[in-house]
Amino acid sequence: TGKKWLVMIRGRIPGGIMTSAQWQVFDDLATQYGNNTLRLTTRQSIQFHGVVKNGLGPLIKRINDSLLSTLAACGDVNRNITASPTPAYTQARAQVIEDAYLVTEALAPKTPAYHSIWVDNVQLNLDAPENTAFTDPLYGQTYLPRKFKTSFVIPPVNDMDVYTNDLGFIAVVEGDRLLGYNLAVGGGLGRSHGNDQTYTRLADVIGFIPRDKVVEVARAVLTIHRDFGDRTNRKHARLKYVVAERGVAWLTAELNRRTGNALAGVRRFEFTSTGDLLGWHRAVDGSQFLTLFVQTGRIKDVPGHAMKSALRAVAEKFPHIEFRISANQNVILANVPPADQAGITALLATHGVKTENQTSILHAASMACPSLPTCGLGLAESERALPGLINRIEKVAAELGLAGEEIIIRSTGCPNGCARPYMAELGFVGKAPGKYQLWLGGNGSGTRLNQVYKEVIKEAELEAELRPLLTRWKNERLTGERFGDFSTRILLPEAARAAAAAQTA
Ligand code: SF4
Repeated sequence: TGKKWLVMIRGRIPGGIMTSAQWQVFDDLATQYGNNTLRLTTRQSIQFHGVVKNGLGPLIKRINDSLLSTLAACGDVNRNITASPTPAYTQARAQVIEDAYLVTEALAPKTPAYHSIWVDNVQLNLDAPENTAFTDPLYGQTYLPRKFKTSFVIPPVNDMDVYTNDLGFIAVVEGDRLLGYNLAVGGGLGRSHGNDQTYTRLADVIGFIPRDKVVEVARAVLTIHRDFGDRTNRKHARLKYVVAERGVAWLTAELNRRTGNALAGVRRFEFTSTGDLLGWHRAVDGSQFLTLFVQTGRIKDVPGHAMKSALRAVAEKFPHIEFRISANQNVILANVPPADQAGITALLATHGVKTENQTSILHAASMACPSLPTCGLGLAESERALPGLINRIEKVAAELGLAGEEIIIRSTGCPNGCARPYMAELGFVGKAPGKYQLWLGGNGSGTRLNQVYKEVIKEAELEAELRPLLTRWKNERLTGERFGDFSTRILLPEAARAAAAAQTA
């Protein structure tokens, strides 16, 4: 047809874990086939935008040669499984990662087509019986009604936003031993503007499972989605609608039926935070780790801050360390022998990448989806706009004496919500160029959805919109009260009352 296609390719990188060698492969691919940047996603992956058709085959093959994959990173299947990356807190993390890998394998489609086309570069014979008759043991011939997201998290840090997943495994750890998981089912954030039938939903915590049931239970939850999800309407097809409409009691009974009563009573746990520990820290095993802030998840070289080259140099010179992508769009250099810490700091510094005082508190707690120009669904800017919006908010906050107060700020270019704006204390969701829906009321532990505060604000009027809200927070907050908590206690109920009064007037 003469049409030119640009494609997005996303890696499947369970738990965001990569060796130095794998990092170098992705770095090479970004240079050769992408736009010379590495785009970290909010699900611990890397995606390449702007790949032309003749780059597809070699790019996918090289990812597979590096022992990672792109299989099931998109599509109506179980997506890249996320898992807590921080080495700071418990040795049990290694067991959690083992389980994340087990579930990744168990829920991967078994289609032979992926390997023959992309890895072995073999033309698929569509008439061959092994291809025409192939039925996936889990997905059947029609796969899932919609995507399926799975996450593993280790309390008290909810760095995965675990409740936003279809299936969340919340680790129950005693000492450094992993006992099993509390199971969270039925979360999801995607929605559409002007369609009340679509909505954000947090997963329900429905019971505890011992560790040896993790694969069986994952299969059971996935097949409940496969069997009961709405196949007539993609906007209504996620598992969250099945759970919302059939109820938690039904879900629990169905899951128990499929797993021989695997579920026991929920064990006690608590989440206290969602962010990453920036800078150098000591890991529980005595090694060191460094978390580097990545603005809006985009690793690139700009004058004075050559982050892409810096990480490349570290990967080459320190082949024994591990690269971990966080679900907050940052990079963790892990398993660093204490003797290498100074060398890594110095090498990064030669590229203008700092390891201390990397950014301000508001930037550190922010996330943005790519949106324009790379995502075809974007209605407004996100990645290119958010840093500037935060600078402006910071200025207002400083004028009000609120400098140093954390507010979790996230933006997306459309209501799909890839950067999880619906968990933010201050969320911008694109409606049209320069126009955003304003969402308020998420909390610091990722356990509460926010709500729409205002249908449309104009980017140009950001200060005029936010200054009154921040002023009230400053003047009326309880001691230590976060902006999201204040919004939930005061601003959102007020807005609801005003809307109700306007309706009856
Ligand atoms: Fe694209 Fe919307 Fe996702 Fe942003 S939230 S990356 S605009 S689909």
